[in-house]
Amino acid sequence: MNKLHPQKPTGQWHNRRVVFTVIVLTLLFVTPFIRLNGQPLLLFNVLERKFIIFGIFIGPQDYWLFGLTMLSFMVFVVLFTTVFGRLWCGWACPQTVFMEMVFRKIEYAIEGDTGKQKLLDKAPWNADKIMKKGLKYSIFLIVSFLIANLLLSYVLGVDALAKIIREPIADHVPLFTGIVAFTGIFYFNFAWLREKACTVVCPYGRLQSVLLDRNSIVVAYDHKRGEPRGKLHKDHARTEGDCINCFQCVTVCPTGIDIRNGNQMECVNCTACIDACDHIMDKIGFDKGLIRYTSENAIVKKTTKLITARVIGYSVVLLLLWSGLGFMIATRNDTQTTLFRAPGSQYIENKDGTISNLYTFKIFNKTNQTIRPTIHLATPGGKLLFAGSPDLTLEAAGMSEGTVFIIIPKSALNRRKTTLTLSVYQGTEKLEDFKTTFMAPEE
Ligand code: SF4
Ligand code: SF4
Repeated sequence: MNKLHPQKPTGQWHNRRVVFTVIVLTLLFVTPFIRLNGQPLLLFNVLERKFIIFGIFIGPQDYWLFGLTMLSFMVFVVLFTTVFGRLWCGWACPQTVFMEMVFRKIEYAIEGDTGKQKLLDKAPWNADKIMKKGLKYSIFLIVSFLIANLLLSYVLGVDALAKIIREPIADHVPLFTGIVAFTGIFYFNFAWLREKACTVVCPYGRLQSVLLDRNSIVVAYDHKRGEPRGKLHKDHARTEGDCINCFQCVTVCPTGIDIRNGNQMECVNCTACIDACDHIMDKIGFDKGLIRYTSENAIVKKTTKLITARVIGYSVVLLLLWSGLGFMIATRNDTQTTLFRAPGSQYIENKDGTISNLYTFKIFNKTNQTIRPTIHLATPGGKLLFAGSPDLTLEAAGMSEGTVFIIIPKSALNRRKTTLTLSVYQGTEKLEDFKTTFMAPEE
């Protein structure tokens, strides 16, 4: 693989990104410890299909809620990208943040800037090279291990992770294998794959040509001002554009592209070329901003239009999705119960003047806390007789099933098929109402 050695970025945009990176990394590492209503703020337990998004628990029963959340997230990403281009990639994407602001910084600190890195790569394996490469890759491995643990804290939660760390490895072989595997994947990604993760692997990057339009704000070269490019000659009146063809914007680019060739899929909008070009413009006494955050229309037509018909369309779709999501969350029950007559069973006429129907039931806990539900029948005089223990205690996101007789006095029934309403309670709090049918002999 052809290894790039981008020049170390410096400048005001880079400084802003450093500050933003500190905020992003702090949030990334602190969030798994934040709890809301006794549960993690965010949890993405794909293994058990349990998710917590800002304190809202989404269990296996709420796949529709998860689907709608993902759909609205995707529409949000499309809307955001249409307006602000790849702002996410350059500033907040964990791949860029770790690659450019952590791993690349470690590399610059140990191996020096671009020239020294190239020399070191070409040098024979002497003591100095072994020491520097050994140190660099050891630190890369440690940071990769940290990131693997960070990932796991979002999948399992910090409590489960702490348990795994405290207890013997033999008790958690599959999860420990997972940590080792992810450490290897992150190490491979940040030590070898690097910018290829953005330019070849990432599907978001590949969608840019569809998501962006001529009004999107991106890092762009002002070709109207810069072209025709030409070297700076001190004693000649300049007839060319402002680009002096110094290639500083290319040597600093972490994905190895030339921004002057127009908007490209490989550009992660890292702003390094803005700083590089601004340095040059400053040095030669030209206005800064030959490369800047702008849109194609702003460069060509001098018009900036953020609210386009496309943006309005996406916003309306997003608003509808969020409204639907809000309504579904607000009206969601803590339990989901199904109760059907046992297949092939008939009603039973009891000697005490009551009628019994046999049912099978399943009750799902849609919360992340233990629930001790009881089922009540609204029909006067009716009662439930559970086969076995009536203890329906449900673990977090757990399920309980069994069989139950519903027994109703014949006098309370006046037709062959009656619809019954049942309710699930925890203590005095009603969690859910549901219906079933009850069969009785014809009058
Ligand atoms: S850094 Fe600026 S002046 Fe130099 S080549 Fe790039 S666009 Fe042209
Ligand atoms: S072209 Fe500029 S903004 Fe885009 S990746 Fe390269 S240096 Fe970063």
